[in-house]
Amino acid sequence: MARYRDAKCKLCRREGAKLFLKGDRCYSNKCAIEKRDYPPGQHGRRRRGKPSKYNIQLREKQKIRRMYGLLEAQFHTYFVKAAQQKGITGTNLLQMLERRLDNIVYRMGFCSSRAMARQLIRHSHFQVNGRKVNIPSYLVSPGERVAPRDNSKNLFIIQESMKNIDTRQIVPYLDVDPNKMEGELLEVPSRDAIPVPMNEQMVV
Ligand code: SF4
Repeated sequence: MARYRDAKCKLCRREGAKLFLKGDRCYSNKCAIEKRDYPPGQHGRRRRGKPSKYNIQLREKQKIRRMYGLLEAQFHTYFVKAAQQKGITGTNLLQMLERRLDNIVYRMGFCSSRAMARQLIRHSHFQVNGRKVNIPSYLVSPGERVAPRDNSKNLFIIQESMKNIDTRQIVPYLDVDPNKMEGELLEVPSRDAIPVPMNEQMVV
């Protein structure tokens, strides 16, 4: 499947926000946006006029899409599903993205980035309610338990990520047991509990 292969920090600098795409580096003082807080490219530092409404909407959409590692077509599919559900479309969209298995594995602290989580899931290192799931877009339901498979618990990158779990803030809608190396989605997250600094209504 196609995926973005260029420098990830450029995406954060383009959006002017930390999107946490590079694992541990994002939590250190090596973070590129803290050193070069302006858009990438030759004209990155040029003064810009007031952004148009379209530009603001585009940037908000790109921020969400890039943070969750989605291509345009995938994002569009989520948007259509969110619009068909009852409630606020922007909130429905974020709730669905938060329930993706790759996001849940990342939020539980088993991996330091969503891209890493995605790779490990594709390689069948995780299970949901005791059954192997190798689909990163699998939507986890409240009450389902997510854990590395028995043979994968000793993987170096999972072990290293678990060592840093104290430095990561676990979101309130997840219950993680670091000793058992498993976690549970307690509920569909409310908008206030989802820690993404975005205005999703601008996308709608
Ligand atoms: Fe973004 Fe992480 Fe790069 Fe910082 S280190 S600019 S948060 S990808």
